[in-house]
Amino acid sequence: MARTLVIVGAGNAGMPAAIEAADRGANVILVEKTDQLGGMLHWSSATMSAAGARMQKAKGISDSPQLHFEDCVRIGRGRNDPAILKVAVENAAESIDWLESIGVPYTEDSPRFSPEHPLYSVPRSYYANQPGPSTTGGFRGGGIIYEKLNQELQKRIDAGKVDVRLKTKMTGLIVEDGRVVGIQAETDGQPVEIRGDAVILTTGGYMANPEFMKKFHPVGGKLVTLCGPHATGDAIPIVESIGGTTVNMDLLIPLLGFVEDPENPGYARPGITLHYGRNPAISGDIWVNANGERFIAEDTKDPDAKERAMMSTPGWVMWAIFDDLMRQGFTKEINELTRRLGLLGLITSAPTIEELAEKIGVPPANLRRTVDAYNAAVQSGNDPLGRKEMPKAIDEPPFHAIRSDGVTILSQGGIKVNGNLQVVRADGTPIEGLYAAGEVLGAGQVMGDAFCSGMSAGAAVTNGRMAVRFALGVAAPAAV
Ligand SMILES: Cc1cc2nc3c(=O)[nH]c(=O)nc-3n(C[C@H](O)[C@H](O)[C@H](O)COP(=O)(O)OP(=O)(O)OC[C@H]3O[C@@H](n4cnc5c(N)ncnc54)[C@H](O)[C@@H]3O)c2cc1C
Repeated sequence: MARTLVIVGAGNAGMPAAIEAADRGANVILVEKTDQLGGMLHWSSATMSAAGARMQKAKGISDSPQLHFEDCVRIGRGRNDPAILKVAVENAAESIDWLESIGVPYTEDSPRFSPEHPLYSVPRSYYANQPGPSTTGGFRGGGIIYEKLNQELQKRIDAGKVDVRLKTKMTGLIVEDGRVVGIQAETDGQPVEIRGDAVILTTGGYMANPEFMKKFHPVGGKLVTLCGPHATGDAIPIVESIGGTTVNMDLLIPLLGFVEDPENPGYARPGITLHYGRNPAISGDIWVNANGERFIAEDTKDPDAKERAMMSTPGWVMWAIFDDLMRQGFTKEINELTRRLGLLGLITSAPTIEELAEKIGVPPANLRRTVDAYNAAVQSGNDPLGRKEMPKAIDEPPFHAIRSDGVTILSQGGIKVNGNLQVVRADGTPIEGLYAAGEVLGAGQVMGDAFCSGMSAGAAVTNGRMAVRFALGVAAPAAV
């Protein structure tokens, strides 16, 4: 008899999982709390990485899942969970080939290196080709991947293989005789029970939950995120309430250079960054922390170094400081960016450096000292922090500042699972009938303590499909 899988969360991991389950003959109930499918794909660049996919082979690039694994461990400072990373890298190529087969249009230069994150040893990042502005100022691929997944999913829905329950929020898990046999949920304010042979949690991360930010990452100050509002970590307390546990909750890495959207507090303004199109090297500004001190050579290229520097700032906040000539911009792009920032009310201005410091709330004497030291470095050509490109001194009033908070794009911590993607208790024993995949695991279980290009969106697809195979008993179980 066909088995019934309850898949909770219809995003980057849940949609491919539902397709996979339907194709393997299961009855699928796909539960989604919002009124739309797609989850973070509507926000994400969704670059994905894999070793050994068709396009990589066609280009003659020599690569292997083992090398991918070793690169992730090197980049992730060894904090990756080897068993989960293994599932992700060993099955990544199949995911990319499958996505290509359902029509995801990868750019011709895919796979390539991904300079927005620490580099792998070979090109293995895939960029889906979608025109239009991106959320991060980088590449925008999630939308087209969503479209292609949705086309496939709709075929299975039409064939009666997948039953989608939108606006249905999981509130609890049903456990009988020590086994998870379904979920409690709410739809239109009414409680419902949805039962199945196994439950797969693909509910995503918690980077839109300010309470979790305060609880787990108090050092990070306030939460400003590029994520969608659905990312509230609902599954974490639910899983804990039946004996599951979490891992990597100490990990979180902010991106640097984004600004909070005055029209949507708590969220970064899409498409505006202080370093895409307005690299300080060409716009002249310096970056200071809440003490009014520089904390990085602003022309640093290494993304990991920039992220670590941001983590060193008190409250993960910085200000770009510049003078009036810089505001007008040395290039058309900078002029356009500062014009947009100005229209949004995001530029604070004052006739003197000290008054500017007062207005933004950093110690005036410190900011004065910092600007004087930087101007001296411009003169001497020798910056103590090692900045190379210093077009001019900051000396033409009025002076300006833009606040930029460390911005999050994914949670590194989440629910602990074993190499079969079964949710486990603190002692490592699996909770029967309960699987999880995607960012609900915390990206750290795959990426460790860093960003490994394409290993959150990509691992969501792969591990979503693999969780189904484990739940249906069609994938060889890992030794756990
Ligand atoms: C701007 C941005 C850029 C990014 N770029 C990249 C990139 O280039 N490469 C990369 O690898 N990663 C990237 N990421 C991260 C990556 O996109 C995410 O980690 C990934 O998409 C998460 O997929 P998921 O399926 O686990 O969660 P989601 O796609 O968020 O799906 C979770 C779903 O579960 C639903 N849900 C939540 N709680 C419940 C509940 N209680 N009941 C029912 N449903 C529920 C949600 O509504 C949602 O639809 C980026 C993220 C952002 C924000």
